Amino acid sequence: MGMERTLIIVKPDGVQRGLVADILGRFERRGIKLVGLKLIQIDRATAERHYAVHAAKSFYGELVEYITSGPVVVAVLEGPKVIEIARSMIGKTRPNEAVGGTIRGDLAVEGLRNLIHGSDAPETAAEEIALYFRDGEVLDYTRSVDHWVVG
Ligand code: UDP
Ligand code: MG
Repeated sequence: MGMERTLIIVKPDGVQRGLVADILGRFERRGIKLVGLKLIQIDRATAERHYAVHAAKSFYGELVEYITSGPVVVAVLEGPKVIEIARSMIGKTRPNEAVGGTIRGDLAVEGLRNLIHGSDAPETAAEEIALYFRDGEVLDYTRSVDHWVVG
């Protein structure tokens, strides 16, 4: 089965609101494997690289301020179709469109402060993981439960 990796960021509002365990726990309970994890403060240069695709948007300045405003948790998740699965668990960007049961739909009410980032495609996932994790910080390991989760 083809494995994918995705970058998750629990954004500064998620850390400040004490939602790290709730958010990461949802992925753990789904059966998804955690292969990288750390608490960091994103600097402006990294934020600008991460969100370069949004540089021309009206919300870009606020977005960079927000994502650099406090500690975040960066995580790498691994599993089959994990990019799409994580995005569906995260929910729509605007919390008024995010349905209940999703992270944003359950826990957020604003378009900017929407708690969590998840990569949107294999290429962006690879770029984003490299932005936050060095070689050796993303681990390759087997869980005894793996064959019950992915066959
Ligand atoms: N964002 C915003 N206003 C918008 C769209 C996006 O403040 O109209 C912020 C929000 O924090 C979002 C981030 O910019 O998560 C990146 O936007 P994107 O469209 O990539 O959404 P995502 O992939 O996070 O769902
Ligand atoms: Mg995005």
